[in-house]
Formats: sequence, C-alpha cells, structure tokens
Amino acid sequence: MAFHLVVTILLLLGVTESHALTLSRTKTYDQLRAAIKESEAAYGLGGKVHLNPDERQADRILRAMKKDELKVVDRARPVAGMHFFDAKPFIENSTVFEALKLMPKGAILHLHNSAAVSSSWVIKNLTYRAEAKLCNVDDRYYFTVRPLNFCPENQTRPINQLRKERKDDIDTFDIWLESFISMKLKPTRIGYASTDELWLDFESCFDAMKGFLQYKPFFEAYHWQLLHEFYNDRVYYIELRMSFAKVFDAAGREYGPPEVAYLLHRIVDDFRRQHPAFQGVKLILAKHRNMTDGELEKALQLYDSLSTTFPGFVVGFDLVGQEDINRSLKSFSSLLVQPPVSSGPPKYFFHAGEIAGYFTEADENVIDAVLLDTKRIGHGYALMKHPILWHAVQHKQIAIEVCPISNQVLGLVRDLRNHPASFYVAQNIPIVITSDDPGFWDAVGVSFDYYYAFMAIAPHSGLGFLKQLVWDSIRYSSLSDGERQNITATMEKQWALFVRQVVSANSSATE
Ligand SMILES: [Zn+2]
Repeated sequence: MAFHLVVTILLLLGVTESHALTLSRTKTYDQLRAAIKESEAAYGLGGKVHLNPDERQADRILRAMKKDELKVVDRARPVAGMHFFDAKPFIENSTVFEALKLMPKGAILHLHNSAAVSSSWVIKNLTYRAEAKLCNVDDRYYFTVRPLNFCPENQTRPINQLRKERKDDIDTFDIWLESFISMKLKPTRIGYASTDELWLDFESCFDAMKGFLQYKPFFEAYHWQLLHEFYNDRVYYIELRMSFAKVFDAAGREYGPPEVAYLLHRIVDDFRRQHPAFQGVKLILAKHRNMTDGELEKALQLYDSLSTTFPGFVVGFDLVGQEDINRSLKSFSSLLVQPPVSSGPPKYFFHAGEIAGYFTEADENVIDAVLLDTKRIGHGYALMKHPILWHAVQHKQIAIEVCPISNQVLGLVRDLRNHPASFYVAQNIPIVITSDDPGFWDAVGVSFDYYYAFMAIAPHSGLGFLKQLVWDSIRYSSLSDGERQNITATMEKQWALFVRQVVSANSSATE
C-alpha cells in the first residue's frame, strides 16, 4: 500500500474516529496497523527492490533463519546487541552468518590499507620472517625491519630471537605481539574507556604497523593477503584509503609515492590474472587531519600529481583521524575549495561526523563535507542530528559509508541496534556497508559488518535490503562505465549462484 494512502487512512481515522471505530473497531485497527507496517517496509532502503521467484524463496528462507536467531533465549545477551569482541564466536556459529559469507558483496568502499589485514596473519607470517624486528621505546612497541629514527638501535631486536628466548610459551609471546595491533587485546577493551583512550590505543596500532609496511617484501605480501582476504569474503572491488608512505627494499632503495602506487598497481594486476572475477582496486589518498595549512597544500599537490600519473587508479582525497581533537574541515575549507593545483579540487571522500557529540565544529564536519561536494561520507554517524542534510544527501545521492563494528569498537555505540544507520535505512538515505579497519578488531573482510547490518541495524529486513546494499556498493563507487559493466556481469552471475545456494541448502525450511 502506498505511503500516501496510509497517511490518508490515518488522517481519516482522526477525522472519523468515533464513527469508523465504533462500527468495526478490531477490523479497522488491524487493517491500519498492517498498512503502516507494509508501507514502512516499502518506504525504507531495499523496500522497492524487485525479487524474482528464486529470490522470493531465498527471502523467505533468510527471514525464517533470522527470526529463529533473533528469538532470544537469554534476553540479556542477544547476539545482535552484543559487542563484537564477545559476539564473534556466536556469530561464527550462526546460520545467517553462513549465508552472508556466501553472499557476493560487490564493492568495499571504506577501508584503510594498513588496518585491513587480519592481525593473526600479520603475527603468524610477517613476524616469523628473519627481517622482522621489534622496537621498544617509552613503553611502546613498534614493528620494523630497519632501525627507526626515534628508536635507539640497542632497543631494536629481531623478533625471532625474542621468540626463541620465550620458547616455552610461544603462544603467549605471539598474543603479546598481536596486542600491539589488536583493539581486542588492549586494556581499553574492558570497562568503559573514553573515546580519547580508545583512539589513543587505535592510533597506536597504526604506529606499530607502519614499520612493517615500509619494507617492500612485507608491503607486497601484506597487500596480496589483503586482496586474498576480501576476495575470499566475496568482495570483487575495493576502494582503498592510504597515505602513500615511503617504502624501501632490501638493498635500501627508497620508493616514493608514485612508485608505491605503481607497486600496488602491479600487485593488483597479478592478483587479477589469478582471479579474473576480481575487478580491482582504486586508491584514495588519506592524510591525517593533524596538519598545518602548508602540509595540506603539499598533500593536495601530491594528490594532483598522483591522479594525473595514475588516472582511474588514484581517484580521491580524504582527511582522517579523531575529529573532535584535530582540525575541522571548516578550518581547512578555503584550501579545500580552491586547492593550489592546476586541475581543480579533487574528488573528496571525507570522513565526517564520526562522533557522538553535538554542536561542535567537529560534529559539523558533515555540513562542510556536503558543502565541499564530497562524493560519499565516511561514517556520517552524526548526520542524524542534521535534518537539512538528510535531504541534501538524498538529493545529491551522497552515500554514507556505514562501518558498524568500527563505530562500536571506537566507543560511539555499545549496542548496534541503536546505530543511527537504522534511521538512514528507514528514511531511505543511501548507505553502503563497509569494514574500515577489520584487521585491528579481529575481524576479516566485511561479513561481520553485514551480520550487524542485517540483524541489528535492519532487523525487519530481508533479501531485498541485502540486494540493495550490494548493488549500491557498485552504484556509489568510482568505477568507470566499462568497469561497471564488467563487475555487473560478474555480480549477476555470483548473485544468482548465491540465491540458488541459499534455496538448495535450505529447501526443506520452506516446504
Ligand atoms: Zn575510516
């Protein structure tokens, strides 16, 4: 039933309450109630998606599975309402999660390269290589290969040597190493750490990883693993945010940003040759907000030269870091509106509104992001508090990159059933689901985020919602027309296969 029809019914109800309800109170009430539910489902994200007969059957199966899992035996601990660190083993046993893992996810549009690969892989692979070292300075630990300028040589030791000294308890030693790059293993995981404390730990993970990713053999192995983990999770295209930090090889030769872009281009090409269904990667230059105007000018010039050298590969610009303690978009606005480059402003993909506060300049980053013509908004958690912007993002089709687990781990929301994306879904504001930094919270790929999107953010939804999310990830990407055609052909095949898998594995459920 159309939305305006329900509104009409409700208005009529108000006007003729005494007459209509006196005549047939139960029937009228139930009909109106059903009409409201039906209209809400049709109005929200995914409500108008067409489902073919196979998809309708898969939809019934998924909804039955979901209903079953949402029936909470222990009401105090529903999995969809639990923190990911506690929920992970339950999610891994979930039949809904099994199905979501099989689902082709299209594109991942918000991912930071140095936090994308699972921490367990980094520990079990990179730290076991002969070149891997650990530097200890001021009670902080940093992975590295060559001496770091802030770390004295006598405080930098080969990890294999350290491991040998702990030969009686290598598992404990490896968990200790992992704690440098895992939020799950930080003291802030327990209790009620403040946003500032969580961000300190979070940024310490990036600092700890940096040294490994500056070494070319590690850089290559790590990014190969990144592609492997996401492709295994049925992701066919990635837009990757990175800072283009320098890389050096075993002979000490240094590689600047253009050479780093080229290295990555080659890794992606090699991966595509082995996995022809994979569409590829595009890069977004992402620099920390904690910078001067002069440094921003340089970053914009770097973007200009990279995007000219690698058109269609380096495609956007972003500023990252904790918003409420660093510079706001407004403070940079004159440079961002008119960058000192010949080719004009970059395509922006700003992190904005990754914040729980209200009426601060940081909270208002979402206003500036829209004014600066951002193509998508990273997080947009605070968008809910800006009603004029809801209409602007709908009108301009600016998708919100929703990262559920990231927002939970960084303290914006404890129970993801309260995530503002529920409101965006209800209001049909375009969103995509993405995983931000899964390597730092013991996740892999993006399926865990999809689980929360399906079970916590949109608990009423079915296959139509998932289909909308997956196809919107392509729609709001930076792919060219030709690339869109390729990935669409792949996705159509994979989607049909997924639907058949759900139906055939569960056909008894609907009989
Ligand atoms: Zn991010």
